[in-house]
Amino acid sequence: MCSMKPLKPGVIGMEPEAFLIDLDGVLSVGGAPVPGAIAAISYLRENGYPFRFVSNTTRKSRVTISRQLESMGFEIPVSHIFTPSMAAVSYVTGKAGTDAAILTTPDVSAEIVRGGIQNREDSPRFVIVGDGGDLFGYSVLNKAFRLIMGGAELIALEKDRYWMGDDGLMLSAGPFVAALEFATGTRAAVMGKPSREFFMRSLASMNADPARTVMIGDDIITDIGGAAAAGLSGILVRTGKFRQEALAGATVIPKRIISSIAELPRLLSSGELCPDQ
Ligand SMILES: [Mg+2]
Repeated sequence: MCSMKPLKPGVIGMEPEAFLIDLDGVLSVGGAPVPGAIAAISYLRENGYPFRFVSNTTRKSRVTISRQLESMGFEIPVSHIFTPSMAAVSYVTGKAGTDAAILTTPDVSAEIVRGGIQNREDSPRFVIVGDGGDLFGYSVLNKAFRLIMGGAELIALEKDRYWMGDDGLMLSAGPFVAALEFATGTRAAVMGKPSREFFMRSLASMNADPARTVMIGDDIITDIGGAAAAGLSGILVRTGKFRQEALAGATVIPKRIISSIAELPRLLSSGELCPDQ
């Protein structure tokens, strides 16, 4: 705990005062909880730290994510989970759009449709690309390519390079988005991390100040770099997709690099995350 400096009513002498936390690679790896992660989240809850989960997962809807976390022992309501599909719905509706070709898993497509976007492949205004896993192949990519060449705007749910699956590293949506950008000569509007809007939306949901919120993630670029661009500091964990080599080329320095989120309660109770540390 930090010095006696009062910050906000109800949050006396504590810094940081809120957390954004990545899911894949931080709370769980390959469907199993990271040892100590459940206790770390309980610690945040018991000590009154507001927190939200910001995930670039574009294979699973928020409801599915919440259920899977519950089955692993985490109690995390849907309202605390932020995914790129929510951002895509507001991006499309913000442009007075009503339809898009939605190219991702049926679970996430259905979530976007429930958000009010019609899924159509004949002359849509937008093409929404997420991590479709095995659904992605030449025919799907070529369909997206033709729609974009025909004037549809490319929306990337995320542009991550890879993530850690249960049997090794997995291609994320980024390589496919990059292929479409290359072929069409356009740039995708990216919805998830590291988009600043994505961070600001999740911060706003808990009235958190970016300068006093810490992002915890396993991706130096999307988690830590994105957080830094939005005014947050970042803690990088050595679980999930973490690779020591990725640090060498990084243009952002995490506030701390920790072995896993299990270290968080100790860092907070010892004051090691205070501003002068
Ligand atoms: Mg991650």
